Amino acid sequence: MLSFTTGDFEIHNIEEWQGEFASPEQLFAGFDACEFAGFVEQIPHSFYRPESNSLYAFLQSWVIKAGDLTILYDTGAGNNKERPGIPVFGELNTPFLANLAAAGFKPEDIDVVICSHLHIDHVGWNTHLQSGHWVPTFPRARYLFSRIERTYWDPIQTDGPRPSATGAEVNTNVFEDSVQPILDAGQAQLVDDGHSVTPGVTVSVYPGHTPGHLVLHLDSKGDHALFVGDILHHPAQVFQPDWNSVYCEDSAAAQASRKKILALAADTNARLVPAHFGGAHFIWIERSGNGFIPCFERDA
Ligand SMILES: [Zn+2]
Repeated sequence: MLSFTTGDFEIHNIEEWQGEFASPEQLFAGFDACEFAGFVEQIPHSFYRPESNSLYAFLQSWVIKAGDLTILYDTGAGNNKERPGIPVFGELNTPFLANLAAAGFKPEDIDVVICSHLHIDHVGWNTHLQSGHWVPTFPRARYLFSRIERTYWDPIQTDGPRPSATGAEVNTNVFEDSVQPILDAGQAQLVDDGHSVTPGVTVSVYPGHTPGHLVLHLDSKGDHALFVGDILHHPAQVFQPDWNSVYCEDSAAAQASRKKILALAADTNARLVPAHFGGAHFIWIERSGNGFIPCFERDA
């Protein structure tokens, strides 16, 4: 089990699922084989399996102890959910809650849940099945949702921008079983860009992958960590930040947000913690010419 600290904050990795997820050709919009060949040897086996041409990915959550607050960032795919949009994330039966317990936390210990965005694999454990109903998994928690996301993904909303066809398909049933029950229970708090959760813990909106995607910033005693959700899915996107995933809703905004977060990580020496990274589950970013390169290990 992986833990690290950022200043005074303690951070624990909670694994839900891991596996070969897709080929680079399948995941990346704008994939270019020649370009990939130029940097693939710098990508560790824990992120790419050349023998099967597969990207290796995790579903995972992070528990952050910040002062008196216990925060859970992202909640994976969840168990027992019907997921026709991405069947590999449907009808799961993972030991996520046992993994949470092994890290020392019960569901009632969580004070704040933050969903980076409202995609299928970031909201699942918001709820669990009890007597045939989806109820909040974390009974005491305030759940922080991006205000923009809450409207965008709600299937009964008709005003404003609506999800792409791919987005709507991927997220079939997701709002209904993993977001609406939190709203109904009165446990949701809608937040905007720059919202402060507690001193040293803020969220900011980086649009593109989804329109209201939240990045979580930890700043303590001069140490920084950026929990960036799906702003990037894979280290290949550090070498080539113009490659979006096929799940990005707005291509130009997703590219711009990716470059902005890579620049921020490089310039503040922040640990970058994307949602789906294997290996150590985080990287650092260094500038290289006009671009960036990932740094997979660094002395603390
Ligand atoms: Zn996503």
